[in-house]
Amino acid sequence: MKIVKKCDNCGKSDFQFLYKNHNVHERILGEFGVFQCKSCKLIFLNPQPDEQVVSCGKIQADLAKGTKFEVIDMGDALSHTRNPSALLKKVSKMLEKGGVVHLELPNPESQAHALFRKHWSLLATPYHQYLFTVRNVESYAKKNGFRVLNVSYRKGSNDFSNSLILGVAAKMRKNVYVKDGFLNGIFRLLPVFGDSVVQVTLKKV
Ligand SMILES: [Zn+2]
Repeated sequence: MKIVKKCDNCGKSDFQFLYKNHNVHERILGEFGVFQCKSCKLIFLNPQPDEQVVSCGKIQADLAKGTKFEVIDMGDALSHTRNPSALLKKVSKMLEKGGVVHLELPNPESQAHALFRKHWSLLATPYHQYLFTVRNVESYAKKNGFRVLNVSYRKGSNDFSNSLILGVAAKMRKNVYVKDGFLNGIFRLLPVFGDSVVQVTLKKV
């Protein structure tokens, strides 16, 4: 476990406690505190569990064997790592100059997070160690030799239905566990919550 004393993004130490959360996907035991930096709005677990506990994985840099890529799709890996800057630096080394990185991250400024708060299923506690605002992503990009090329938003995977179930279950004092795909067919066509996932393209400069 690592206690966060300074914001990883801006270095300030003034945090706001948001809520305690527990794992609802794989039955990892325990509660996890979720905090937000008052200055830059970065959201993070505190303390942060060890990366092997949260299935963070590692970059298989040797797969590249010196090959430089034009495009790397990181998915939401940036949310899973304890050290986003180190990960972006590694990815940058694997990219050609002018190459691009695609990120798909849970959006903490989304309507779903505003409504469901700790029951928002895309929090995926404790796998997601960080939740980034778009401004946070811009800051990490700039610090690590990238600039933001494009930002867009999309619906989350079943987050409306799953969050609703989690919220209702909590009111009934029941612990439930949700899997991706649960009740998907019922809610997938709803026009609401089109901003749960933020997609960002970064260009190496
Ligand atoms: Zn900060």
